[in-house]
Amino acid sequence: MPLHPETLALHAGWRRDSATKAVAVPIYQTTSYQFDDTAHASRLFGLQELGNIYTRIMNPTCDVLEQRVAALEGGVAALAVSSGQAASAFAIQNLAHAGDNIVSSTNLYGGTWNLFANTMKDMGIEVRFVDPADPDAFVRASDDRTRAWYAETLPNPKLEVFPIAEVAALGRPLGIPLIMDNTAAPLLVRPFDHGAAVVVASTTKYLGGHGTSIGGIVVDGGNFDWAAHPQRQPAMHRPDPSYHGAVWVEAAKPLGPIAYILKMRTTLLRDLGSAMAPFNAFMTIQGIETLALRMERHCRNAEIVADFLAGRPEVARVIHPSKQTGLAGERAAKYLTRGRGGLLGFELRDGMEAGRRFIDALQLVYHVANIGDARTLAIHPASTTHSQLTPEDQLKTGVSSGYVRLSVGIEHPDDILADISQALDAAHGTPTRMAAE
Ligand code: PLP
Repeated sequence: MPLHPETLALHAGWRRDSATKAVAVPIYQTTSYQFDDTAHASRLFGLQELGNIYTRIMNPTCDVLEQRVAALEGGVAALAVSSGQAASAFAIQNLAHAGDNIVSSTNLYGGTWNLFANTMKDMGIEVRFVDPADPDAFVRASDDRTRAWYAETLPNPKLEVFPIAEVAALGRPLGIPLIMDNTAAPLLVRPFDHGAAVVVASTTKYLGGHGTSIGGIVVDGGNFDWAAHPQRQPAMHRPDPSYHGAVWVEAAKPLGPIAYILKMRTTLLRDLGSAMAPFNAFMTIQGIETLALRMERHCRNAEIVADFLAGRPEVARVIHPSKQTGLAGERAAKYLTRGRGGLLGFELRDGMEAGRRFIDALQLVYHVANIGDARTLAIHPASTTHSQLTPEDQLKTGVSSGYVRLSVGIEHPDDILADISQALDAAHGTPTRMAAE
């Protein structure tokens, strides 16, 4: 009987420790593992049998996290890595090599934008950016060397849901997988249900939830027919000199539809070494246990804050999927059926200085460069994350001078509103009053 996400978050991938019967997932703080004998070691290295070799490549605590996130996303297997950035980089490098290209949505986290526009370029991988409002733009930007398409489910700062099914359906006949960064919407959207082939996430955010541990994960949907596209996906078909000439679509056959993630673990993780530490995997597992409850509360509180801000005269515009109309509103209704997300933006009428004063006046809400924490977080992008951009370029990314981003936490909503209300008053020179008044 398939289990519900709330149950999987507590149970997937683990029952108890076979040696001690411990219920909590142990932190296997070990670098290496004793082989039974030389034949056993040979089978592990030869991929005839899966098992632990060395913690840079696999670890039992990380394995539980991988199984748990794979189950939550509805995928077949996953790979935990050291950060969300490493997850995005690996997801691309697993398919695209120097001379190849990928097509990406323009609506991206700034760190991913830099990775794609600069570091990938230095590696000889071209990233072509297209406006996600038009799914056909992905096809128009593609050519014979296009290996993947990439997008975020619920990208900042516009918070317009990406048309996953529409774009994934265009890529599949061409042999182009859609890679979705689902960092902002775990449990709210399952990109595999809409045809995506790979999911990446920064576990640093909602999955961990407590703001303690940087991490990332790549999930293989097991739903993409790599074997049918030898020309389009040479990395999966060409004998790989780095692993005794392995042809990944063949090597994975006895192990299940895991060619993509098996290749990533045995080559990229082995060679580049961006492994997640077992302690961080443990912390993230603790976070995921309460993910379903937290996401419910994040979404409910964000709608309360959105309604409150919409009623304040200092606020010119509230950006939250619950407030969207037109095509963005239709997509929010189609994809965000389990809640409209915990991220929210708003524009202060009085621009840059009001934005700064608002942030400086916050007492409960934290001023940090993070999202998805259980606590409410705020940042003023024009004076921080986007301050290197010209005002014109800021506007192109959707950041006006008075734009404030909130990651709404799970505190009592009245306390969040009270702090936002007094900070709005302070930003506009009016006397402090409590939201509940
Ligand atoms: N993807 C998204 C949507 C993010 O917001 C972030 C970080 O803010 C990342 C990826 C990168 O994750 P990390 O900071 O864990 O490297």
